[in-house]
Amino acid sequence: MSDLPSWCTLVRAPNPGPMTLEGTNSYRLRARDGAVVVDPGPLVEEHLQRVAAQGPVVLILLTHGHPDHAEGARRFHQLTGAPIRAQDPALCLDADPLTSHEAALDVPGLALRVLSTPGHTADSVSFLVNDPGRPGVLTGDTVLGRGTTVVAHPDGRLGPYLESLVRLRGLSATVCSGRRLLVLPGHGPVLPDLAAAARHYLEHREQRLAQVRGAVAAGAVSVQEVLERVYADVDSQLWDAAALSVRAQLDYLAEQGRGRG
Ligand SMILES: [Zn+2]
Repeated sequence: MSDLPSWCTLVRAPNPGPMTLEGTNSYRLRARDGAVVVDPGPLVEEHLQRVAAQGPVVLILLTHGHPDHAEGARRFHQLTGAPIRAQDPALCLDADPLTSHEAALDVPGLALRVLSTPGHTADSVSFLVNDPGRPGVLTGDTVLGRGTTVVAHPDGRLGPYLESLVRLRGLSATVCSGRRLLVLPGHGPVLPDLAAAARHYLEHREQRLAQVRGAVAAGAVSVQEVLERVYADVDSQLWDAAALSVRAQLDYLAEQGRGRG
């Protein structure tokens, strides 16, 4: 685990679980006139109060609309008066949705960019803080601090997810002259190297896809049959989530098959 960079603080929400690890990470990024808060988290008053108590907030950003990240945003807006921006217009308040890929956000005193990284969900985005000393990326659930993430079928899709991982893997070279980028994930610890984390995720996805292909070739037809063959090593508490990833993988393989004609 890496230390937090000096431009941010982390407040962890009290919602631990098999999907949320130790709880949702709410981040405060230091800007000139106050903080940008990324993912206020679940609607837990005590948690939202703790995040708000650290000082003024100028902007609320959401990495995606899952409730463990976004449910508390409107209450947090009431507490701070800050506008809410997300890719999904339905989540925004007093501000426009985040749309353009790699567009700079206008926050004085903070070099902040939004990166479109769909896949975990259709509306997933990441945020790059291009700090000259320790640049980092807030990845939401696209890259976690531990384990791997779920492609939340049908909203989440594997093809876009793999493309997002490839983009994150190359981000340091394309926008940060090869400097290592910290990963500040939506759950779990901070990681030292985004390129390495994205590479690991891509390898994991390739392995799982090969296993799913193998299971299908061996006669598995239903999601349950694929699960039993491919995810036998995964805690059964996570099987509902794994089933979503299996559906996403079967869809992806079907699309690939159609693509090849
Ligand atoms: Zn999520």
